[in-house]
Amino acid sequence: MNYTPVVGLEIHAQLATESKLFCSCSTEFGAPPNSNTCPICLGMPGVLPVVNKKAVKYAIMMALATNCRINRRSGFSRKNYFYPDLPKGYQITQYEVPIAEDGYIEIETDGKRKRVGITRIHLEEDAGKSLHPEGKAEEVTSVDFNRCGVPLIEIVSEPEISSPKEAVAYANKIKQLLEYLGICRGVLAEGNIRFDINVSVMPEGAGSLGVRTEIKNLNSFHSLAKAIEYEIERQIKVLDNGGRVVHETRLWDEKKLITRSMRTKEEISDYRYFPEPDLLTLVVTDKWLDEISSTLPELPDARCSRIEKQYGIPHYNASVLTSTKPLADYFEQVAKLCKNSVRASNWVITEVMKVINERKITVDEFSVRGKALAELLDLIDDGVISQTAAKEVFSAMLETGKSAARIVEEKGLFRVSDEQAIREIVDKVIAEHPKEVKRYQGGKKQILGFFIGQVMKLSGGKADPKVAQRILQEVLDN
Ligand SMILES: [Zn+2]
Repeated sequence: MNYTPVVGLEIHAQLATESKLFCSCSTEFGAPPNSNTCPICLGMPGVLPVVNKKAVKYAIMMALATNCRINRRSGFSRKNYFYPDLPKGYQITQYEVPIAEDGYIEIETDGKRKRVGITRIHLEEDAGKSLHPEGKAEEVTSVDFNRCGVPLIEIVSEPEISSPKEAVAYANKIKQLLEYLGICRGVLAEGNIRFDINVSVMPEGAGSLGVRTEIKNLNSFHSLAKAIEYEIERQIKVLDNGGRVVHETRLWDEKKLITRSMRTKEEISDYRYFPEPDLLTLVVTDKWLDEISSTLPELPDARCSRIEKQYGIPHYNASVLTSTKPLADYFEQVAKLCKNSVRASNWVITEVMKVINERKITVDEFSVRGKALAELLDLIDDGVISQTAAKEVFSAMLETGKSAARIVEEKGLFRVSDEQAIREIVDKVIAEHPKEVKRYQGGKKQILGFFIGQVMKLSGGKADPKVAQRILQEVLDN
């Protein structure tokens, strides 16, 4: 039996506001436990929440970037559940009418584009964090309420994702949008973005979706892909053996790379949602919406197509370069200042990104700035140095911080186009390889490449290959 996997994602993104969603406490990460708290976020009796306008603005920005309809009137509800890290005993969230609905984003996997629907985006507050001290995890649970009330948006997708690869592409796109908008710090390791997934498999030809399971709180792209992959295979095995999939929440075991049954899923009614009586209806006016729309930055898809056209570079290069905003900014800086923008795109993708990945730094921390790289690349296009020499200069620039021109000067890396100098090298190569000369003269013209390679090697990459080829042919053919 063949099955089609059906996956939906709920992504929680922490909004990069300075204060919490309903009080003025700081959202700073890593502060001493319980230092960023007040009676409001600790849920003391008699306090009143006030909505953080910037958090609402950020939610609207994300809604616009994901082609959603903005609800002009939305509201907050209480979602009741008991957990030690939720001091109020309920979470304030948007339930019946969220801030935005019915959007979509486009993803690309293996060169194929696909549209994935966004069901809704809503605002809610985060809960605190339970900590289980090492060695005493059995007896002691500590609670840190600093995260209590930190603003989140939850972005709920339609169940239109059909593979782990697509899920990662979707999650990546959401992260990319959040970063371009500057509304989320996007550090997965600090829990800025967390994924809940629901997975089911549909037997071929079946008219309706299979029973789904949910896995909560995944915090890396790797676990996201692995958990989906595991859950698809597990469900297929259950069904193939004549069993049935149980609707439940499962836990992802990061070490064993498996999902385990945790609890059967609460039904909506278990949360006893009701409208938050302490908050008014959230109204978005036309004027405010226009204001926000007009300040939206250029988004990744638009920037990718523009960069592709404006600089005449391949689509693949443009999509890699626009994967983050700082990288795209860096590339555009180089491309504007140098003569050959295709070369600039290749260099940023290979040489620059290699160093950034190896050193685990950001583009902004990369020491060779755009202008300096542009100068180096122009030396290639001006015929001053070869590609090979340029790589050597690039490493020296990284180490010394000196300019490309100065390094070329100091190391004497000028490309040799002096005929006499190349002729001497050619003579030497020919004298050293009598067998190859015989084969060439016997008709094996394709070994000319071998001779050019030898000349380049002997010249330390400095000979102009075109000149070398002409002289070689001249000498060998006579
Ligand atoms: Zn507070």
